[in-house]
Amino acid sequence: MKRFLHSKFNALDPYDTSGELESMNGGYIRLNTNESPFELSEKVMSNAGEAARALNFYSDPDCTRLREKLSGLMQVNPSEIVFGNGSDEILNFIFMAFCEHGAAFPDIAYSFYKILAKFHGVDFLTVPLDENFRTNPDDYKNFNERTIIITNPNAPTGIFLELKDVEKIINQNPDSLIIIDEAYIDFGDGSAKNLIHKYKNLIVVRTFSKSRSMAGARLGWCMTCEEIARDMNNIKNTITPYNINAMTQAVALAVLEDEESTQKNIDTIKKIRDDTKNKLREIGFEVLDSSANFLFARHEKISGEEIFEALKRKKIMIRHFSRPERISNFNRITIGTPEQMKIFLEAIKGVVSE
Ligand code: PMP
Repeated sequence: MKRFLHSKFNALDPYDTSGELESMNGGYIRLNTNESPFELSEKVMSNAGEAARALNFYSDPDCTRLREKLSGLMQVNPSEIVFGNGSDEILNFIFMAFCEHGAAFPDIAYSFYKILAKFHGVDFLTVPLDENFRTNPDDYKNFNERTIIITNPNAPTGIFLELKDVEKIINQNPDSLIIIDEAYIDFGDGSAKNLIHKYKNLIVVRTFSKSRSMAGARLGWCMTCEEIARDMNNIKNTITPYNINAMTQAVALAVLEDEESTQKNIDTIKKIRDDTKNKLREIGFEVLDSSANFLFARHEKISGEEIFEALKRKKIMIRHFSRPERISNFNRITIGTPEQMKIFLEAIKGVVSE
């Protein structure tokens, strides 16, 4: 028992950020958090400076200019968008408000779902990926109004689920709300976003943290039918009306005005990803086919933990998962700049040949 803490919070299970903190402070090459290695342009950054001048005023609670710009780019109506302080906040709203009948998600998926489900007392079940780490849409049936969450491309595997299979899951579950977490979709293809006009039980979640180089600014959003968007915005306006700060809004607007740079960065990452995959395969790694900005790989002879520790000693941080058991020999490697990946490949070749 804690003295002042509400008893419902006695057994919290917070997200583990220790790897992030260590890599931030220790002079590491950070290939562990799926950020973009590319800085924002000078022009974009000058917008943040401009916005800083007006920080004496509250930020626009509706993100009006950003909403209009994004709605044009995404071809959805402004009223079909909800903004969050990172897509983590959008996911929090979802677990808080749209999971009364429970939740279901793959056994290997973004670890935050489980944490949020536990926090909000949501009854959840996990659906095993098949032996090739793929989602089988036939496993998503008879869920009786349970909210279904699919990460696409999946994390940490990077595997993409074809849009026809996403649609199959939606069709098989007309009484469930379906969440497609598309944090990494810009590095693959086949967004479900256009389906929000066809199905009224769909939320497509996105973020500015990955392809748009804005992880530190904390901006996520989702696209959904007007009714769900209104409910979510009501929740947002009840607990955190000014959730998107003014600098973030200004920077995001400038980023969206320069889609060319974003696209160039995406193309570069995809190219390095595919080169790195081939090079890792040449030195005995099994590497899953990734549609994201990271690779998921295990070596035929050396354990995942050993590889992780050896690279860490060489000041390169990748992400190791000790659980669940069947991915404990894999590591997730974020794609960095060409220079960083050159250092990484040299280092990992050394580890393999030692
Ligand atoms: N979804 C997935 C699948 C992720 O990997 C992440 C980032 N770790 C998020 C959502 C949350 O990202 P953010 O809050 O930075 O938008």
